[in-house]
Amino acid sequence: MSKQVVLIPGEDAAAEAFEETVIVLDCLIDHLGLDIEWIRPAVGQAGIDEFNNPFPDQAKHAIDHSDATLFGATSGKSGRALRYLRWGLESYANVRPVRWFPGCNSPLSAPEGIDLAIVRENMEDVYIGVEGDLKILQPMNFTSWLSNKPLNELGEGRFGLKVHTEKSVTRIVKYACELAIKRAELSNRNPILACGTKHNISPVADGYFRTIARETAAEYPEVTFTSLLADDLIHQLIINPQQFDVVVLPNLFGDLFSDATAALVGGLGLAPSGCYGENGAYFEAVHGTAPDIVGQNIINPTATILSAAMMLEYLGFDEPARQVIGCVEQIYVEGKYLTPDQGGQSTTTEFCNSLKEKLRSSNK
Ligand code: ATP
Repeated sequence: MSKQVVLIPGEDAAAEAFEETVIVLDCLIDHLGLDIEWIRPAVGQAGIDEFNNPFPDQAKHAIDHSDATLFGATSGKSGRALRYLRWGLESYANVRPVRWFPGCNSPLSAPEGIDLAIVRENMEDVYIGVEGDLKILQPMNFTSWLSNKPLNELGEGRFGLKVHTEKSVTRIVKYACELAIKRAELSNRNPILACGTKHNISPVADGYFRTIARETAAEYPEVTFTSLLADDLIHQLIINPQQFDVVVLPNLFGDLFSDATAALVGGLGLAPSGCYGENGAYFEAVHGTAPDIVGQNIINPTATILSAAMMLEYLGFDEPARQVIGCVEQIYVEGKYLTPDQGGQSTTTEFCNSLKEKLRSSNK
């Protein structure tokens, strides 16, 4: 049966990387005879409009009935599509692999062996989307346990809620444990999982995340689980990233730490991601739309291509996914067709042409 994949290119330079990636995938599909069908739904207007129009039914239907979605990145116009993919589909596990391979422009003197995966809870934390005027909270007579001051004394201001629920923490940590076990099997070592929270300053909310994470990880005795303060964790990730394998984080830390760790291996141009849930999955680069380089044909497509490789794997096309990754690695080793962020002078199109050439010759 053919696999149906929804394509949503997004905006700015990210859309340029996206379209080049689709051309590479078309080449792979032709050469290997993969049964994949693209669907390009119209995704509607920017943001929430004044009439609060819902996400177009046709796009929703296409996503609901597809096997996966490949997404560019959004600066707003495709924002409702992203919101549907994430909160509508409940794609709760955002996996962001961080791996150095020879030729990547790492700022570190010894990046060899960096190979970890950030597993970011994708729906809650401050992304619960509940904010308001502090006045709403004043009748509740909250007092800060840190300053001992009643909330009423803070004066004019706004608040944003941070929420961790038992269901969400349990499922993300289960996902992370299972990923740690899978990765350990592939590399023939023991599964390890690190968790980062700010439980000293947020003993109730982050403390809860940590407690549930610990209890859940205990159901996987083969996984060595460590809990760190988030500030210590990011410091450790930067000074000795090779010691980590899977790192599970609440939403906001996951977002911040994955950009930081992408920098260790050579930047956002290299960082892919997949978002998985019970009802589907979508794949997109970690980076945003890169509006500052739009129209120049210099955006590094590697992050989008590696996200597409994660998608191929998810669809059951393991060998084609390995081929894509292998050919990308060859381009970096050769260093001839790299984009400016990697110290090269090639365009996005030249990088992708070189990749197509390699895919063709590996399938002769
Ligand atoms: P968002 O808020 O949507 O996540 P952002 O603020 O993180 O976006 P990005 O769009 O990710 O911003 O870009 C940050 C910087 O990294 C920009 O200078 C951009 O040009 C650069 N950048 C991002 N992705 C790439 C890429 N694939 N290739 C080259 N440069 C990139």
